[in-house]
Amino acid sequence: MRANSIDDEIRLTVDAAVELANVVHGEPLPDLEPLEPLERLRAVLVDFEFLRARTAADAELGAFADRMVSIGRLISSLPDSDLADAVERINAQLEAAAIAPSLSAHDGFALHIHWTGPSTPFAHQVAVDLLMALAQTLCDHGTDRFGRCAADDCDRVFHDTTKNRSRRFCADPRCASRTHTAAHRARRGTDPDGT
Ligand SMILES: [Zn+2]
Ligand SMILES: [Zn+2]
Repeated sequence: MRANSIDDEIRLTVDAAVELANVVHGEPLPDLEPLEPLERLRAVLVDFEFLRARTAADAELGAFADRMVSIGRLISSLPDSDLADAVERINAQLEAAAIAPSLSAHDGFALHIHWTGPSTPFAHQVAVDLLMALAQTLCDHGTDRFGRCAADDCDRVFHDTTKNRSRRFCADPRCASRTHTAAHRARRGTDPDGT
């Protein structure tokens, strides 16, 4: 899952932000369901290579969970927002975040810019990473890439990176399959040939 370019890194960070939003809104993917809420967040963060999440104390994850409530609300609103509305919401969060960039060359990576300083608490560092990736995506793609799952009883949000914006379902494989089964049954039920 290592990013090869800035675009990849932004895409992956937005993917992470969307899954984290789904977790804080109580709609985790099936494999996360057995975990405690904080451990669900940790699992998604580790999966997306936020390395400090592996060893972050519960208090730090708790602080991040608190930050994630407002970011999650913002993300959940994006599928139904026009761009001006989304920009206003993200600017409010960016203003409150008081971002202070720094340079870093950690873990064998070449020197690169971080949006926060070396001693920034974990929760703030991750929250700012998510906000900056969301901000860049709004600049590049508007709100077009944010959608809500088309399955009947699913409110999960997804990040659509298909070329023709054809994605309809979230990352839960049950959503696509049960919707297709229901559609197939409905067609059989109304089709006079019974085919
Ligand atoms: Zn870095
Ligand atoms: Zn779904």
